[in-house]
Amino acid sequence: MPAVVLVGAQWGDEGKGKATDLLGGDVDYVVRYQGGNNAGHTVVIGDQKYALHLLPTGVLSPDVVPVIGNGVVIDPGVLLSEIDGLAERGIACDRLLISANAHLIMPHHKAIDKVTERYLGKSKIGTTGRGIGPTYGDKIYRMGIRVQDLLDPGILGQKIEAALTEKNQILTKIYNRRGLEPAKILAEYLGYAERLRPHITDTSLVLNRALDEDKVVLLEGGQGTLLDIDHGTYPFVTSSSPTSGGACTGSGIPPTRLTRIIGILKAYTTRVGSGPFPTELLDEQGEWLRQTGGEFGTTTGRNRRCGWFDAVIARYATRINGVTDFFLTKLDVLSGLERIPVCVAYDVDGVRHDEIPMTQTEFHHAKPIYEELPGWQEDITGAKTFEDLPPTAQSYVRALEEMSGAPISAIGVGPGRTQTLQLRPLV
Ligand code: IMP
Repeated sequence: MPAVVLVGAQWGDEGKGKATDLLGGDVDYVVRYQGGNNAGHTVVIGDQKYALHLLPTGVLSPDVVPVIGNGVVIDPGVLLSEIDGLAERGIACDRLLISANAHLIMPHHKAIDKVTERYLGKSKIGTTGRGIGPTYGDKIYRMGIRVQDLLDPGILGQKIEAALTEKNQILTKIYNRRGLEPAKILAEYLGYAERLRPHITDTSLVLNRALDEDKVVLLEGGQGTLLDIDHGTYPFVTSSSPTSGGACTGSGIPPTRLTRIIGILKAYTTRVGSGPFPTELLDEQGEWLRQTGGEFGTTTGRNRRCGWFDAVIARYATRINGVTDFFLTKLDVLSGLERIPVCVAYDVDGVRHDEIPMTQTEFHHAKPIYEELPGWQEDITGAKTFEDLPPTAQSYVRALEEMSGAPISAIGVGPGRTQTLQLRPLV
């Protein structure tokens, strides 16, 4: 009953799509367990590039059942256009299963996400503007609208009416915006209901039965550890639980059934949106990483903030997620550097911290303490085995492994499907 979790070990965008795709051949089900269309997974197959936001990467493998778990928030219009976009390219999503318990992103959630960000001004979170936070807020507040409500037009109408009674007050009276019309939204969502109906099911039941039959289930996290609502750099986080614990609540697979936790770790660090980032490079080296690594958002197109590898964060990810293996991505981006700085600890107001400081204030003051490792000049994008890497690249990987506290079991040396060195099996 292998249930494998893939989790971003930094601030997201570590290259999880490539890892999921690598495992695709061994996997029967690929499950998204949190987040929504704030995520972006890029998968390159041959000369085709696919950017997925809401669909699990499993849709690209014909033998895999893709599943959207209960912990996900779904914008049905976006989901359907993603399905249609793939259909145009010859990829069918008939196998897709959607949890009846997942929550729906509604037009008022998107409207509120945008106006609250504007209202926050300089203190804004830098959200993706997709309505993620307000949807999870309503879920916790017990006034959310779920996928199963699409199946009961009477209930759906009542819930939209009830939500807008409050949300329209907020939009018009606090933010000076126009209110939304319940009847129009009901008609729009009933249209989505017709198309989504065949996909809606009790996904927890399906997945646990699959595990009973020894099928392989891959739980694919969006975002990353440091964006987790509980364990991230709050309040500069997303509103869900990307960490491995979230894989259980977001899928209905119990913790006792998880067999492997794979942390996806980029060979340097990036972050999108606001919030502390100790190793951020605001100089030409940061720009070099951005250009060389193609660090522009899949979802919003925003420039990603870039910096050197931060071992304190990697260790934290190991601890919070119980990482059993790391998949190190984008090692090839670092080729050509004389020396590569790696952050081993922080200096916070003159005190050395080997772990993430307890308070946000301290974290905002954290200055990286660097160790410099020798770089390599060779192009490594054609490497097929670990031994093909130049000795200094091998030592860089071994040093990161030592500092991060879990074995590096796979290494990405380029964006293509075949540009991965596998050191040990991941399933
Ligand atoms: P939200 O998820 O749209 O509410 O945005 C909250 C924070 O999470 C912002 O800083 C976003 O930039 C960040 N974020 C959300 N999704 C991703 C992602 O897939 N990769 C990187 N950052 C993300």
